[in-house]
Amino acid sequence: MALAGETKRVVSQFEFSDVHVNEHVEEFLAQMKEGLENDGTNLSQIPTYVTGVPNGTEKGLYLAVDLGGTNFRVCSIMLNGDTTFNLTYNKVAIPKALMIAKTAKELFAFLAKQIELFLREHHADRFESHVRRRATASTPMGYRDEHIFRLGFTFSFPVKQLGINKGHLIRWTKGFDIPDAIGKDVCRLLQDEIDDLSLPVKVAALVNDTVGTLMARSYTSTGKHRSLLGGIFGTGTNGAYIEKTANIKKPIQGEYDTSTGEMVINTEWGSFDNQLKVLSSTPWDKTLDAESVNPGFQMFEKRVSGMFLGEIVRLAVVDMIKKDDIALFRDVNSSFNDRHTTTSIRPNSSIFKTWGLDSAIMSVAAADNTPELWSIRQELENSLDIYAPSLEDAQAFKAISDAVARRAARLSAVAIGAVALQSGKVGDPNEGVIDVGVDGSLVEHYPFFRDMIYEALAVIKGIGPEGAAKIRIGIAKDGSGVGAALIALIAARQE
Ligand code: ADP
Repeated sequence: MALAGETKRVVSQFEFSDVHVNEHVEEFLAQMKEGLENDGTNLSQIPTYVTGVPNGTEKGLYLAVDLGGTNFRVCSIMLNGDTTFNLTYNKVAIPKALMIAKTAKELFAFLAKQIELFLREHHADRFESHVRRRATASTPMGYRDEHIFRLGFTFSFPVKQLGINKGHLIRWTKGFDIPDAIGKDVCRLLQDEIDDLSLPVKVAALVNDTVGTLMARSYTSTGKHRSLLGGIFGTGTNGAYIEKTANIKKPIQGEYDTSTGEMVINTEWGSFDNQLKVLSSTPWDKTLDAESVNPGFQMFEKRVSGMFLGEIVRLAVVDMIKKDDIALFRDVNSSFNDRHTTTSIRPNSSIFKTWGLDSAIMSVAAADNTPELWSIRQELENSLDIYAPSLEDAQAFKAISDAVARRAARLSAVAIGAVALQSGKVGDPNEGVIDVGVDGSLVEHYPFFRDMIYEALAVIKGIGPEGAAKIRIGIAKDGSGVGAALIALIAARQE
């Protein structure tokens, strides 16, 4: 009884009612507008200089590279013009020494070399003929413009973007540390090394992964509906959407194509409501924030994305384990007992280690609706070294895990719903479908995550069940491949 009662008490703290959903949407819209007007706001609302989205008819062969962390990926993408594409790629680990090289040149020369190797391996025809032509060149650069590959560069580090293919590195993260590169244009750094190797490649676009997701979805989604929003729900969360340039009140530096009247905005919504005006905090949200590397920042992300959900569950469960009268994960017959405890948790269990619970186990918990909950009980043993958990233990774990995920899904609906409302498309009878592309393990693998989002969208004022039925959320794969290629194509049209 005590266990069931305590579980209910914990679960109730993650309650996110319909009223909460609406309060949050209102605040989200206000913070979106603030970000369009000023710098230094919660939602940064970064102009991306991408002024159009594809509709599936785009054609041609493009290159894309992705420098995100441990690996460097080079791909070529053949856009077939009928919403389909063929992608070829090479992936190479970045040598540790280059991540902390003395000069940016060392790293970028390595990247350019990988592009050369890729072209020689997969596009030898075009590459070799280019080399031959150069030898007898009459044109100034030794090659004709139509033979130059346009390349989209996905660079997942903080940059100040100043144009569609121009962005200054603000700082390195994820173990990279090359001070020489700070403040420099990363597209220029790559282009210089490409030029040193005389490759027929132009760095046409600097790509953020959410924008890539939006592009990939817009190209591949059937029915020729341009997508409105690309959202990532993986390790982190963020979204990019199409905004009317007239609504972007803060100055946009540099040049861009004004003909469409639109620009893709990278919201950086992970930082929604860092001041906690509307976001509420359970004791476990507070502990998580305090133990994080950036207390007080990314407060929305810390309640929504895969990196954090498991830790919230872990903190709540550990608090229950510590309460003697609750009797969670107790086993009087356990061989791990000592005089003082009757725990069924093995001493080396990662449940007691910060970040020790991967949110993937939450998917197992959500998927198991059988009376005996054997899948969860097995998974608790396999991944957390919790020996022979009882049905009551598994029920408690599942209830907490489900509650944390449900709150995350409803918060995700807040972001998606606010963007849909901001677009003005929900009530517009001329807008049949409002298409949203999403990517990330959470939305892809967590059972019913999208259903929970739809359920919350339907209670939002100004959307309702009818509006929610117009919103179509679909998986968009490979934003840093096909998405980046599409941005390179759009950029090339603007040259
Ligand atoms: P990234 O966002 O880094 O590109 P992913 O989209 O794969 O990568 O997201 C990884 C995150 O998703 C990790 O935090 C991981 O714990 C979480 N995750 C992985 N699989 C699942 C799953 N089945 N259910 C819920 N979360 C998951």
